Amino acid sequence: MTDLLSPTQLRFPADTAEQRFKMLIGGQWVSGQSGETFRCTDPFDGRDWGYIPIATAEDVDRAVASAREAFEAGWSTALPLQRAQLLRKLGDLIDEHAQEIALAQVHENGKLLAEMLPGTHYLANHARFCAGLAEQLHGHSVSPSVPGSTVYSVSEPIGVVAAITPWNSPLGLLGPKLFPALAAGCTVVVKPSEVTPTSTLRLAELIEEAGFPAGVVNVITGHGRPAGEALVSHPGVDKVSFTGSVQTGKSVSTAAAKNLARVSLELGGKSPAIVFKDADLENAVHGVMGGVFAATGQTCMAASRVLVESTVHDEFVSLLKESAEALRLGDPLDEASQVGPVAYRPQLDKILKYIQIGIDEGATLVSGGARPTDPALGDGLFVQPTIFTDVQNSFRIAREEIFGPVVSVIRFDGEDEAVRLANDTDFGLAASIWTSDISRAHRLTQRLRAGTVWVNTHRMINYTAPFGGMKASGLGRELGVDALDEYSETKTVWIDHGSPQMFGRSK
Ligand code: NAD
Repeated sequence: MTDLLSPTQLRFPADTAEQRFKMLIGGQWVSGQSGETFRCTDPFDGRDWGYIPIATAEDVDRAVASAREAFEAGWSTALPLQRAQLLRKLGDLIDEHAQEIALAQVHENGKLLAEMLPGTHYLANHARFCAGLAEQLHGHSVSPSVPGSTVYSVSEPIGVVAAITPWNSPLGLLGPKLFPALAAGCTVVVKPSEVTPTSTLRLAELIEEAGFPAGVVNVITGHGRPAGEALVSHPGVDKVSFTGSVQTGKSVSTAAAKNLARVSLELGGKSPAIVFKDADLENAVHGVMGGVFAATGQTCMAASRVLVESTVHDEFVSLLKESAEALRLGDPLDEASQVGPVAYRPQLDKILKYIQIGIDEGATLVSGGARPTDPALGDGLFVQPTIFTDVQNSFRIAREEIFGPVVSVIRFDGEDEAVRLANDTDFGLAASIWTSDISRAHRLTQRLRAGTVWVNTHRMINYTAPFGGMKASGLGRELGVDALDEYSETKTVWIDHGSPQMFGRSK
């Protein structure tokens, strides 16, 4: 696998630069009604590659109509076994093509191949997990408090789902929408981020190869406007499942509400890692590093606010600085690299702007804070892992999502202050507690307002465990068995045993 090939061998061949991608609508690969395209740029070598169609409102109409047709033509009533078999086959194909799928994502957003390759096998396992769920669609038998009736509920698919994804983990974030939706019997129109569309198009080829009927999965490409907006406001869409920023999430939610479409939202975070004086400090430093610098900090659950108990603050910061400065920035295709580039230029500019804001607010810049000067990194969109101390929780760098390798360290004294600071945020996606005191761990998991709370780890996620946000971090849950509920409607059936009707026949 990867260790047999050098980064040079793994770079895309030159002709990929000219590759013309197509969208999948109703089982046809099409260029889009306007014929207009946009380009992708590799954030490590700056090379433009591929021409991607820009979907118009007419393309969106066709995709939604195809999804509706496939829903009614039989996908919604297909035997659970049939849906499960196709999802299992898809899982196997993803495993078979793992390297090229992982590579597509690396070239799109600069994430490390060393992370994307296992991530792609995880995606395959997730498809197989949801195959199992397709065969576990249950209703309930109800005991009504009225005589003479048999009552039960059944689970039915919601209908046509619009799945909108961001760029930071294009397939890792599509799987949690696509696989349970298909398991539940929904059909789907996917709109990947304009920064990372090709990996989703490659997955669509595998979906076709697995044998999913035409129109069950459609992929349209383009920007938020007009493509995304046309999709989420389309009256033919029954459910919008969105992952992205809070700002876009609000506008998606408003557009979907006009049609009373169901909505689930996976939005941003400002997740605290709370380090107590009784923690294994070295372990906590490594955990926080993985939490905030892995994926170049471009993860929704990044440990971007680190609350450290005063008595161990200085020791923690000194260990964190030493470890951060030892991180190897480099080519995402090189197995030795630990931190890759930022995914695209506007995101790099945003991170650098926030670093300046932190300096202006009066935080102390302990490490990083600039683009690296190592010539081996060329024009890659790198930024140094950055640590701020003396941060107040009211500072913008402690309140707003930066989505980059920038960590704000905040002091606290005692459990109550830790909880107050941790919960003093608009977000509620995740939090981690670092302690060797089991009672403290239990107490705090109850007091923290976050969809996921980790103890002595951070950024752990698995398709078996529900994930989602409280407060501004979102609405609904993905992953786990609960994910099926997001794509199902409950229908209640009453069967009368022949009792007289209220306005019964007159005798
Ligand atoms: P974004 O909101 O800019 O875009 C997300 C997607 O929405 C893209 O496909 C985009 O084209 C589309 N879009 C933009 N405007 C739209 C509109 N008006 N109508 C419909 N679609 C529209 O987010 P991003 O920059 O791509 O991603 C980063 C954000 O995603 C961060 O805030 C991060 O925290 C969040 N995120 C959340 C999770 C989670 O699980 N909670 C996971 C990953 C990323």
